[in-house]
Amino acid sequence: MSKYSDELTYGFTGQVAPPVRETRIGVCSAYCGACDELIADVQSGCAQLQGRRFAQSGGCQLMLAVGIVSSLTNVVVIVHSPLGCCSGFVGSGGLRKTMRASKGKREEEFVWLHTNLDEMDVVRGGLDKLREAVLYAEREYHPDAIIIANGCVPGIIGDDIDSLVTELGGRISAKLVPIHCEGFKSRYVASGYDSAYHGVLRHLVEPLVKYERAIPDEKQETLDRYRISRTVNIFNVGSNSNGDEVELSRIVSALGLIPRVLPLHASLDDLARIGEAALNVSVCATHDDYLLGHLKERFGTPYIIDTLPIGIRSTNLWLLRIAEFFGLEAEAERVIKLENDQLNAALEPFRRELRGKSVYVGGGETRILTTASFFAEDLGMDVVGVKAHNVDRFVEEIMEELEDPRLEITVAAGQPAEELNVLARLRPDLYCGHVGANGWVSRLGIPNLPLFGQALNYMGYTGAYELARKASKALKNTNFVKNISRGVKLPLSAEWLARDTKLNIKETEAV
Ligand code: SF4
Repeated sequence: MSKYSDELTYGFTGQVAPPVRETRIGVCSAYCGACDELIADVQSGCAQLQGRRFAQSGGCQLMLAVGIVSSLTNVVVIVHSPLGCCSGFVGSGGLRKTMRASKGKREEEFVWLHTNLDEMDVVRGGLDKLREAVLYAEREYHPDAIIIANGCVPGIIGDDIDSLVTELGGRISAKLVPIHCEGFKSRYVASGYDSAYHGVLRHLVEPLVKYERAIPDEKQETLDRYRISRTVNIFNVGSNSNGDEVELSRIVSALGLIPRVLPLHASLDDLARIGEAALNVSVCATHDDYLLGHLKERFGTPYIIDTLPIGIRSTNLWLLRIAEFFGLEAEAERVIKLENDQLNAALEPFRRELRGKSVYVGGGETRILTTASFFAEDLGMDVVGVKAHNVDRFVEEIMEELEDPRLEITVAAGQPAEELNVLARLRPDLYCGHVGANGWVSRLGIPNLPLFGQALNYMGYTGAYELARKASKALKNTNFVKNISRGVKLPLSAEWLARDTKLNIKETEAV
């Protein structure tokens, strides 16, 4: 069982808003050094006090919070803020449609409204606009829930959105869900996941009311109890593809268990049944420790937060942890042997092509470390460095198990100029990184592939095969990036690119 079950305490849902992650779990958002140094600095608290001299935009928790709640079925999201806070949502509708279609769910538009706060609203308050938007959403769209994402401006001027929710609660049929995701509150964008799940836990996770049957049906009740005792909730994340979810469900089913994937793209009925499971399993602690911890408190459901099932070793471990909970170790060993034998044989041609090639991985902390381990351990590649958006206690164990404890790691959410400075020095044969970075990396002439993709499979055993296939394909013909780098220059000076990355990191004052 995950050590975090005992280590962390929750119990925050009595509060209007969740604590930010800086205070709840401690977090490092700026670092440059070796992995073993970073572990020591995280444990001593020094890593949490690092900042940078030159910083670019680092993201906002409102974006991540809206990303989570907007996936739910038949909801309307109202962003209570100036219009600029919504600038990143333009592409989200397509993503939602793609995901729903790939899961075979009914097609739905992503309906989001905004209150377009202006200077006068800052003086007079924005609640009248928000009230109008809520009533409009109810009248026009008849959603199951109306979710209000609160931006910095109403947070600073003190708009009491919770009072408005109480006032309107009895007047409309949709459930009202305030999400306190004001960007200024946290430097750690993943705080947005906690903000989103805080609202979901307070307003949408309500167990179904069960009435006693007029005519007792013991057989059905026994079947229901059996189903719950074998059900494993697999908590999906925004970067999952349907292929990932199918693969993780497949290997859990192979143990004779019943997988159920949620909460993204779930309906309100699905959320009402979230407590009907024997075990909750995370695929990424950065996303859902807050949710799993509170579900344990509310329903008593044990949970596992361990590794992210990318690559052979991590997938084996992820499956074994689940099996151990149910006493199914022998079954798991059989499944793992069968899968590993087949996969290792299938990977052989890619190993021949990729062995010895250098690679750099950038993105979310757990994903980059498990992906880098796969490249090194299973494909024989030379991992020359990794970049994490943030680092916290959840990856300490994974970092401790790295083949090379001196592996270079930088911690930076966004910060493309800093990442390009690192890459200009290391010049890897291949870059595997988060959406948004690959365009910049192409200008350096480095072949690259995305770290995740909603239409691609990365997790589990089939995901490992796909990842190797994509890496091999990216190196087969590198003319595209060569031409890009010849024709499009980076907006960075030669002096910046030659500078020591560590010079950009400085100690900040405690907050
Ligand atoms: S940081 Fe504040 S103002 Fe900026 S996008 Fe986020 S919520 Fe809006």
